[in-house]
Amino acid sequence: MTQTWDVVIVGGGLAGYVAANALAKNNLSILLLEKGKNIGGRARTSKIKDQYLNIGPHAFYKKGKAKAFLEEYGIKLNGKSPHLSGVLVENNMEYTAPFTPLGIFSTSLLNWKERMEWLLFIMKINRIDTEKLTGLTFEQWVKQAAQSENVRSLLYALGRLATYCHAPEKVSAKLIVSHLKTVMGGVLYLDGGWQTIIDQLHNRAVITGAQVQTRTTVKQIVPDEPDHLKLVLSVGEEMLAKHVICTTGPNELTKLLGDNLPQSSFITQPTPVKGATLDVALSQLPNPKRLFAMSLSGPFYYSIHSTYARLSEDGKSAVLHVFKYHHPDDHIDRKKVQHELEQFLDKMQPGWQKHVITSRYIPQIIVNQRLPRIGDEHNLVRSKTDIPGLYIAGDWASPHSILAEGAISSGKQAAEEIIQKEKS
Ligand SMILES: Cc1cc2nc3c(=O)[nH]c(=O)nc-3n(C[C@H](O)[C@H](O)[C@H](O)COP(=O)(O)OP(=O)(O)OC[C@H]3O[C@@H](n4cnc5c(N)ncnc54)[C@H](O)[C@@H]3O)c2cc1C
Repeated sequence: MTQTWDVVIVGGGLAGYVAANALAKNNLSILLLEKGKNIGGRARTSKIKDQYLNIGPHAFYKKGKAKAFLEEYGIKLNGKSPHLSGVLVENNMEYTAPFTPLGIFSTSLLNWKERMEWLLFIMKINRIDTEKLTGLTFEQWVKQAAQSENVRSLLYALGRLATYCHAPEKVSAKLIVSHLKTVMGGVLYLDGGWQTIIDQLHNRAVITGAQVQTRTTVKQIVPDEPDHLKLVLSVGEEMLAKHVICTTGPNELTKLLGDNLPQSSFITQPTPVKGATLDVALSQLPNPKRLFAMSLSGPFYYSIHSTYARLSEDGKSAVLHVFKYHHPDDHIDRKKVQHELEQFLDKMQPGWQKHVITSRYIPQIIVNQRLPRIGDEHNLVRSKTDIPGLYIAGDWASPHSILAEGAISSGKQAAEEIIQKEKS
């Protein structure tokens, strides 16, 4: 007999688990299906040789909506905020990063006029009315807002750091600046990594009655009977669901729907935001004072996360991430990118190779499923799609936010729309 569920959630990442938690206690039968062996999606943390490695550098926003939503479910976020003191690298020269008051006054990157322009910027960023940026790309806004080239480069670097988007000429200024405002409220590096969020959400979902099935790939979603969707699974099994929340990326969803995807659907269009990451655990740091660096106009980032979060069993090693922001038009040469990341790390921690406990290189990973473009938000006002019973969630599916903020708020929104529908 084909089993029937009230809600099937496809994907066991942040969006899927938040949806499962938001649906709890509503008397609905809930099944979450995850194709991986482990839960967590891109918020997974691998424990390798007693070191906790997130997939690339992960920082949780202290003033974001996502934190408030997770706290509603009793999720604890333990960790500390990193200092933004560090260096900016430009043309092989290192400059004090002007991201702290001391940095602003001591850096030799800026002359006095630029220093004042930058300082005024930092002071007023929280008061920018992002509604007024509608219709502008981030590049257009930066050119209007800043006079000096150095201040413009700093704004691009801050935009990259906050959003991972490295295409200022393509992205929406409204979304980037609004996300930047959230990030300026401070971030947390989490003890034990982001898996701790996933594990807490999983436990709460299961305790409240949701069922979770890993190693199960959904192959097809078919609008079947008037009130149900049919899911075809990799194992050949089929099931029916009154509502489906799909948290896979848009490309995967397009495949799952096949011919049932409505023509001219927005779902088929987003370009992903990608990067390369080198995640490393060292037994000691050759240069313990060098904790954070970015290139000013180049796409590189480096930060020691274990200074602020406990990321190993004994708490003694150093866990760090070196990252390259890919431009959507980049052709990625995996060997060349690896060399670039290692060289950047070599500048910061000369001789690091002698102290490696474990390291992992990923040449190309999707950081956010949607490069946020002007006007995207109009297509994403509701989680409900044109296919009755099908809802979308994930870091691409939120109108006004991206990354974990987007994944968490869209997971919650999809669940709330279903609860509303059930009540009516
Ligand atoms: C390098 C890197 C750095 C990042 N840094 C930050 C940061 O500092 N701050 C921040 O807020 N965010 C950051 N992010 C983004 C954040 O990790 C993601 O936005 C978030 O984890 C996405 O959650 P999700 O649920 O939308 O998607 P995912 O985590 O991708 O979850 C989707 C799940 O669906 C499963 N799935 C896919 N297809 C199927 C199928 N057919 N059947 C069954 N299951 C399926 C997948 O296996 C996956 O587990 C970063 C991401 C990366 C990669």
